[in-house]
Amino acid sequence: MILTVTMNPSVDISYPISDFKLNNVNRVEGAVKTAGGKGLNVARVIRLLGEEALATGVLGGTIGGYIVQELTKDKIGNDFFNINRESRNCIAILHDGKQTEILESGPVLTAEEGTAILAKYERLLSNVSLVAISGSLPQGLPSGFYGRMAQIGREKGIPVIVDTSGEPLRQVLLHKVKPFAIKPNTTELSQLLGRELDESIRSLKQALTDELFQGIEWIIVSMGRDGAFVKHGPDFYRVTIPEIKVVNPVGSGDATVAGLAVALKNNQTVPDVLRTAMAAGMLNTMEEKTGYINPDKFKPVFELVQVKKIDL
Ligand code: ATP
Repeated sequence: MILTVTMNPSVDISYPISDFKLNNVNRVEGAVKTAGGKGLNVARVIRLLGEEALATGVLGGTIGGYIVQELTKDKIGNDFFNINRESRNCIAILHDGKQTEILESGPVLTAEEGTAILAKYERLLSNVSLVAISGSLPQGLPSGFYGRMAQIGREKGIPVIVDTSGEPLRQVLLHKVKPFAIKPNTTELSQLLGRELDESIRSLKQALTDELFQGIEWIIVSMGRDGAFVKHGPDFYRVTIPEIKVVNPVGSGDATVAGLAVALKNNQTVPDVLRTAMAAGMLNTMEEKTGYINPDKFKPVFELVQVKKIDL
């Protein structure tokens, strides 16, 4: 079973309003409400790829209750740390071909809650073979929190994938014990290094040779329609994908993490790990729903992904 960690999940509400009026009443038909948060997308795609997923993280209130209900509907096992505050709503207003987002920051956690969450996480590790941690950290927790989670995983011999950004990602990389895998996109990578990156192999290779990345087994730099650049141990790979008809690319990074988790859990070969990760991301772009794939399309897409090892 694969454990997914979502520390700040949300109910994502989308309001299609063709003629949005500021400072006025807007009525909505066809509002869509889904259990959101990057780690929940990862859990859903893991399930759709045919593996068991256990979703954990922090939930509270009636919004938390709704998230549990949605996960149960999707047959995703869940065991969250419950708090006595409401989880958050995130609202997207779809108007005139544009998207205006209103994102609640979510509950602020206490240091005591942080300690209890780590204890629960450690207990859950006894039944899982791999962990994927995704998304932002709630306010109140130290920025080194994910580093600590990766360390606990390593101490128990369980690979931990971390997909976050900004300060929490930097702190994971500065932690004395490194995660097993990370999946930054090119923007996150250049933010980390504090400089612009051109997407040439030379520049990406040089970037991943930075001391910051030492001790991480897998670094998958996802590059949207350009596939990925990858460092695995001492080896580098360029992964290319064919052009496809994209319906909605949001959540592709999460689907990529789900594919990576499933492939690593099943001890696939290096090229197949990369093909599975890319295929899952691509399949997500082909669907309307965020963090969703059609598994029937997996095989033909998987076979179109090309993996080339780069000579040193
Ligand atoms: P998000 O934040 O939306 O979850 P991300 O920036 O983390 O995404 P991307 O690099 O955009 O991740 O995409 C992850 C993977 O999904 C890519 O490596 C690729 O396999 C697939 N993908 C994304 N966009 C496209 C696209 N336009 N065409 C084909 N495949 C795509």
